[in-house]
Amino acid sequence: MIEREQIEMDVVFVGAGPANLAAALHLKSEIKKYNEFVANGIKPGKPISDLEIAIVEKGSFVGAHILSGAVMDPIAIRELMPDFLAQGCPVDSVVTDDAAWYLTEKRRFVAPITPPPLKNKGKYIVSLSKICEWLGEKCEEAGINIFPEFPAAELLYDENDRVIGIRTGDKGIDKEGKPKVNFEPGVDLLAKVTVLGEGSRGSLAKQLTARLGLDHGKEEQVFSLGIKELWEVPAGNFQEGMVVHTLGFPSDTRTYGGGWIYGLKNNTVSIGYVTGLDYEDPMIDPHTEFQKFKTHPKIAEILAGGKMIKYGAKSINTGGYYTMPKLYADGVLLVGDCASFLNGQRIKGIHTAMKSGMLAAETIVGAFEHEDFSSKTLRHFEEKVEMSWIYDELHPVRNFHAAFQKGRWSGLINTGLQYLTKGLAWGFMPKEYHIAGYERMQKITENGQRRTENGRYAEVKFDKELTFDKITDVFHAGVAHDEDQPSHLHVLDTEICATRCAEEYGNPCQRFCPAAVYEMEDNAATARKELKVNFSNCVHCKTCHQLGHPRRRRRTEL
Ligand SMILES: Cc1cc2nc3c(=O)[nH]c(=O)nc-3n(C[C@H](O)[C@H](O)[C@H](O)COP(=O)(O)OP(=O)(O)OC[C@H]3O[C@@H](n4cnc5c(N)ncnc54)[C@H](O)[C@@H]3O)c2cc1C
Repeated sequence: MIEREQIEMDVVFVGAGPANLAAALHLKSEIKKYNEFVANGIKPGKPISDLEIAIVEKGSFVGAHILSGAVMDPIAIRELMPDFLAQGCPVDSVVTDDAAWYLTEKRRFVAPITPPPLKNKGKYIVSLSKICEWLGEKCEEAGINIFPEFPAAELLYDENDRVIGIRTGDKGIDKEGKPKVNFEPGVDLLAKVTVLGEGSRGSLAKQLTARLGLDHGKEEQVFSLGIKELWEVPAGNFQEGMVVHTLGFPSDTRTYGGGWIYGLKNNTVSIGYVTGLDYEDPMIDPHTEFQKFKTHPKIAEILAGGKMIKYGAKSINTGGYYTMPKLYADGVLLVGDCASFLNGQRIKGIHTAMKSGMLAAETIVGAFEHEDFSSKTLRHFEEKVEMSWIYDELHPVRNFHAAFQKGRWSGLINTGLQYLTKGLAWGFMPKEYHIAGYERMQKITENGQRRTENGRYAEVKFDKELTFDKITDVFHAGVAHDEDQPSHLHVLDTEICATRCAEEYGNPCQRFCPAAVYEMEDNAATARKELKVNFSNCVHCKTCHQLGHPRRRRRTEL
C-alpha cells in the first residue's frame, strides 16, 4: 500500500491552458472585488478568506504542451485584463490583412471578399505557448501555486460521487511498472472545487463524463486533427500580419479539411492543415495530407528557401454547442476545449476557453459565498455560459460541422444558409449527423476491391526540404520521453489489430497517428503482422484516443 501525501487546497485547476490560467487569475480578482463589496457594505455576508489555489500541469513548464502560432481574438483577455498589452502580454503581430483561398491541384482562387467568420483584421497572431507562460507568471505573482510536471492521473470522489480533488501520477517507474530508486508516489490534492481544463479529449474529463453520464442526451463529439509546422522563410516570401485560410486541395470533397498560413514577426510563418477525423477512407493519412498541402505551387512558393523549425499536432473538438457535456457536477466544473467550447467555424477556441474559465471563476466565488460546493450552486456556471457572448457565438454555428458530413459542396451551401438564419439545420443535412466521427470510417474492402492509397500521396517525396516524414517532424516537436518508463498508451486488445482491424480497416492507426507511434511489425513466430507501440514518439495529439474506439476496433488509453 503506497502512502500518499495529502495536501488540502480550496480550488484545484487541472491543466495550465488559457482556460484555467484565465480562470485562476479571474478567481483571485473576483474574490478581491467581492471582499471589497462586503467591507463597504454593498454586499451582506462575511468576506471570503484567502483561498489556496493550485494549477497542476503535466508539461515540464507552463506552455510546454501548448501548440503555438494561433490567431487570438482578444475579446476575453481584454475582459480579464483590459491593459494586457501595457502589462507585457507577448503578442507577436497584429493581423493587418486576411484572405480566403480555394485551391485546386495547381491553381489558387482568392475569394473576392473574406467570408465573415474568417475575417481577422485587428486580432493578434500569438505564440499560444508564450501567452500561457506569461499568464502563468501573472498567476504566480497573484499568489497562485503552479505545479508543472504534475499530471493529474485520476479524480478523487467521496462516497456520494462528489469530486473531492485529484491524485497526481506516480513518478520514477520503470517500463515494467516497477518503482525505480527515484520513485515518488503521486500526491492527493484535495479541493472544495476541482476545475478540469485539460484541453481536447482530456483524460480526467473523459473519466468523469463516463462515470456521471455528463454527455447523456448530447451529441457525440467529432474531432479534427490539426498539424502544423513553424518555418523561417526568406524576407519577402510572406507578409507579417497576413492571415490566409484555405479550402480545397489536398482534401477530397468528402473529407473535411482546410489549411492556414499566418505571418509572424522575423519572417516566421505558421503553416498547418486540419483534417476532420470523421473521414471515410481508411487510407487517409492526415500528416501526409499536410505534407501534400505544402506541395501546392502557391504554398511551396511561400516556403521556398525556408527552414522548418518546429512541428506539432493536436486534436480539435469540432462538434460545437450540441456536443457540450453537462458542465458541472458536485465539486467539479469543466472549462475550455475539454468541454467543447471551441468555435469550429472560426477554428478558434482561445477566447471561448478563457471566457469559460472566467465564468467558472465567478461561479466559484458564489460557491464560497454560500459555502456550498454541490451542483446546486455550481449549476449556475451553465446559466452564466448561456447568458454570455459564448452562447451568442456558439449557438448560431451549432450545426456547422454537421453540415459538412455530406461533403464539401453541401457543407458550403448549408453554411451559407446557416449564416443567414443564425444556424438553422436544413432538410438536406445528413440524418445521421449526430453519430461519432469514427463511425463514419468505411471498410478497406469496397465492392470486393481493396482500397489502396491509389496515388493519393504520389507527389509527396519526403525530401526533407519541403516535405518531411513523420520521424523527422517528431524530432522537431520538442517532446521527450524516458524509454525506461511505462508506456502511457495502452491498447487493450492487440489481437484485434492483427486480425479484424487489419482485414477490415488496414490498420488505420499507422496512418492517422501523426507521430509514427503505431507500427504493424512482422512477427516471425506468429507469421503475421503485430502492433508495435513506439510510445516515445508521441506528440500527445490524442487522435488515437478518438479513432481507436472500442465499438469499432480497440481502445487506446492515455
Ligand atoms: C492546430 C490547432 C490550431 C488552432 N488554432 C487556433 C487559433 O488560431 N485561434 C484560436 O483561438 N484557437 C486555435 N486553436 C484552439 C485553441 O488552441 C484551443 O481552443 C485552446 O488552446 C483551448 O484552451 P484550453 O485551456 O481548454 O486547453 P489547452 O490549450 O489544450 O490546454 C490544456 C492544458 O492542460 C494540460 N493537461 C491536460 N491534461 C492534463 C492532466 N491530466 N494533468 C495536468 N495537465 C493536463 C495540457 O498539457 C495543456 O497545457 C487551435 C487548435 C489547434 C489544435
